[in-house]
Amino acid sequence: MNAIIPTTNIPLDLRNRHSGLRRPYCLDSTPVLQRQMQRESNARSYPRRIPLELSRAQGVYVEDSRGQVYIDCLAGAGTLALGHNHPVVLEAIQSTLTSGIPLHTLDLSTPIKDAFVQTLFDLLPGDFAKDARIQFCGPTGADAVEAALKLSRTATGRHSVLAFHGAYHGMTLGTLSVSGNLGPKSALGGLLSGVQFLPYPHDFRCPFGLSGEQSIDANLHYIRHLLSDPESGVTQPAAMILETVQGEGGVIPAPDRWLQGLRAITQEHGIPLILDEIQCGIGRTGDMFAFERSTITPDVMTLSKAIGGGLPLSVVVYRGELDQWQPGAHAGTFRGNQLAMAAGDATLRFIRREDITGHVRRVGARLNALLQSLQAEFEWVGDVRGRGLMLGMEIVDPSSCNDVGRPTADGERARKLQRACLERGLIVELGGRHGATVRFLPPLIISEAEIELVGQILYQAAQSVQGEGLTTRQ
Ligand code: PMP
Repeated sequence: MNAIIPTTNIPLDLRNRHSGLRRPYCLDSTPVLQRQMQRESNARSYPRRIPLELSRAQGVYVEDSRGQVYIDCLAGAGTLALGHNHPVVLEAIQSTLTSGIPLHTLDLSTPIKDAFVQTLFDLLPGDFAKDARIQFCGPTGADAVEAALKLSRTATGRHSVLAFHGAYHGMTLGTLSVSGNLGPKSALGGLLSGVQFLPYPHDFRCPFGLSGEQSIDANLHYIRHLLSDPESGVTQPAAMILETVQGEGGVIPAPDRWLQGLRAITQEHGIPLILDEIQCGIGRTGDMFAFERSTITPDVMTLSKAIGGGLPLSVVVYRGELDQWQPGAHAGTFRGNQLAMAAGDATLRFIRREDITGHVRRVGARLNALLQSLQAEFEWVGDVRGRGLMLGMEIVDPSSCNDVGRPTADGERARKLQRACLERGLIVELGGRHGATVRFLPPLIISEAEIELVGQILYQAAQSVQGEGLTTRQ
């Protein structure tokens, strides 16, 4: 266990300087934050709710310019699998920097790239790895999704795509076209044509008003019916794309049986299945890839975030038979970031060597239990869901009911809880419909003691947002 907790090369140990439970932190603006507000685009996002000027970081901790230390359960939106400045990542970057290797190579090969590909292929499920191909993409997750869509359209000669309600695949025009959230789409007008959205299974807010196995059956029946109905209005699709666990959509894990059903349907209809593992992959859910638990394998998989060890890197990995696009079909200048490949290789090796997936399952179960105990006490905690260290807690207004018979999502209460956490030294993000799901994406190396601290902070924060007509459960 100690092996996975980073030792520090930062002189001061941030771990011992967290004091959020003893006195509230000051979150007033600073000159730097004011300049940021004046100069940075109106499209800036995180600083609006997490107004911090960060100066140092170590493991699961970040320190602001006032010397206040926070537990970072956002961790670069799930990118920092080994936390901030992990020694193995720093050592990989430093030795690459001093090795004399070219740091930018377009998509030319280097020993570092070769080692990264080998390590990644060793982690893929065997039947997928044996004839898989990899394409290095521009360094964002969105570019890997663009590549996956282009690849599938080229290989099938078709153009329509099946995507899911609540999906998040990126912010480019192509990826927004297959994403659910209407906010960033509504100002843009025509996106990709031929995208058909399907219901994603969501036990707490089932689109069919069902639950459990019935909900899965209805969902699969609907998709089967759509694909076999000559009057469905949907032309034969080039691909089906989904997240194995939806992240931004509100932390919604796909049930295994549903995934198995989808795999059977897509195989039967010759539709390439693209699994977007950009957020849920690389150990986050307690499996190396989130789809592994269901025993299915995709035709195409997109990876980014943790794959670069915290540095920008993204790839699409796919079955060899789909490799029908032309040379240069998905080019890009920044596809050869050696530092990211070295950091990513070190991260992947560490996750495997130290059985980080086992650790994630253990500490994730404990965090889940702590969230459930909050749910048992506070009636405005409507639902707790997720897998491993990808967890969410949906905040609702228990006194109201929406038109499908569930308590309405309460984004305002969620924002208050997020703020109360921040004042006590805990960074959490919001997501999901109406921003009402409090999200937990801590570094995978978070220790058991740190999970307990997260639980204590959450409990205090929850007590502080209690009131205003809200009650604890009787
Ligand atoms: N797919 C998923 C599942 C994601 O969570 C994200 C980022 N949150 C993306 C794609 C897009 O990645 P990026 O922000 O690097 O473009």
